[in-house]
Amino acid sequence: MSGKSTVEERVKTTTTQTGALLVVGGGIGGLSAGLALARAGQDVWVFEKAHEFREIGAGLQLGPNAVRVLDWLGVYDALSEVAFFPHRLVLLDAIAERELGVLDLGESFRAHFGYPYLVAHRSDLLDVLLQACKDSERVHLLPNHTVERVENIPGGARVVCDNGNEFIGKAVIAADGLWSATRGLIHKDDPVCKGYVAYRGTLPIEQATEHPWLDDVVMWIGPGMHFVQYPIRRGELYNQVAVFESSRFLNGEPEWGTPEELFEHFSMCAPRVKEALRNIHTDRHWVMNDREPIPNWTDGRITLLGDAAHPMYQYMAQGACQAIEDAACLAEAVKDFTPDMEKAFALYQQQRIPRTSRIQTSVRVWGDIIHTRDATAVLLRNTILSNRAPDDFQYVEWIYGFNPLQSPATTQTADTV
Ligand SMILES: Cc1cc2nc3c(=O)[nH]c(=O)nc-3n(C[C@H](O)[C@H](O)[C@H](O)COP(=O)(O)OP(=O)(O)OC[C@H]3O[C@@H](n4cnc5c(N)ncnc54)[C@H](O)[C@@H]3O)c2cc1C
Repeated sequence: MSGKSTVEERVKTTTTQTGALLVVGGGIGGLSAGLALARAGQDVWVFEKAHEFREIGAGLQLGPNAVRVLDWLGVYDALSEVAFFPHRLVLLDAIAERELGVLDLGESFRAHFGYPYLVAHRSDLLDVLLQACKDSERVHLLPNHTVERVENIPGGARVVCDNGNEFIGKAVIAADGLWSATRGLIHKDDPVCKGYVAYRGTLPIEQATEHPWLDDVVMWIGPGMHFVQYPIRRGELYNQVAVFESSRFLNGEPEWGTPEELFEHFSMCAPRVKEALRNIHTDRHWVMNDREPIPNWTDGRITLLGDAAHPMYQYMAQGACQAIEDAACLAEAVKDFTPDMEKAFALYQQQRIPRTSRIQTSVRVWGDIIHTRDATAVLLRNTILSNRAPDDFQYVEWIYGFNPLQSPATTQTADTV
């Protein structure tokens, strides 16, 4: 092949008129959105840069606020078969090895919130969503498509991939995660890093370090660190996440968050925590980032969803839950206002931004509380936590009791948006 024809082939690009809604990113947020929009009668094309739809990482906690939506999406039964239903959420002192607080997730929790709290392997959740997308005639999946740019055009929006091929649709929903390039069109900001690092991994349940809370979601907390453990995949695997604040980062050292620093930081913990930590995978780590809440997610026919819109720390286990809530809310708004996507997006963000902003900022405060090094704050925190009854749901009502499918905003008329 001559050099000339190679160049010609490179510039030969195609334009596809899809007539559909175009979703950028096929993670939990993107696939939930695809499914929800299909349920609302929309054709959806989902662009994913990876060569297959898959999740990296280990377990995921899903509160009843998200499980309710997954049921509405028709995937609850399939997910239940691979999930684990923990008995309690337990906060433990990582150094003194004692219970600080318990939230019972049993019958009264389910009755109160209408849905259970469940934990699942990320890939199990993604597989269930993916299968439902494949089963839907309305969802068109495009792995191996890296979106380079999105733009508004008269009466629609365009997605341009890195090979130059472009796709024209009714609107774009960017679910491309924390590092979303589309977000930069709408708001200029950068992810915020405070030097926290996570190590995580799963192991066969038989190899888990023995302790009395194996059926629970446990969070061991201590100064500048926490350690989360829970069973996943029907209880066959045990998921562990160790998070700590890197003092090397705070000192401005170039190499930080290493396995050596992890073990050094956790050396103050109770023997049971240190023993369990030996099973953590140290070949990879995740630097924790979030961003400030922003007042607008939309530019014309382009909007944001999931981590692209509201990345948050995982300390309240709500990042994916909020992406799933977004999907339901977006679909309801689109159903109400089709074909006026701009109005639908206005209603969607009007409904979602207050909620996700509150969660983003609450997670930061919760992080400060669980990681505090201040002796007075520790005493106050532990006293307050130990005075809460396990079936007192008032503190979590606003998180788990929220139903995006019943929000008053979805009953608004177009004139009020
Ligand atoms: C350690 C840890 C533990 C967590 N635990 C929980 C928990 O227990 N419960 C919970 O609810 N949340 C949890 N979270 C948060 C949760 O993982 C995220 O909020 C969630 O995965 C966000 O989903 P998303 O689809 O918005 O983004 P992502 O998962 O980041 O997906 C974005 C997708 O877009 C694709 N993409 C990116 N750019 C492009 C492009 N240009 N073109 C095409 N495709 C593109 C990516 O490949 C990816 O597939 C945790 C997070 C961490 C780090």
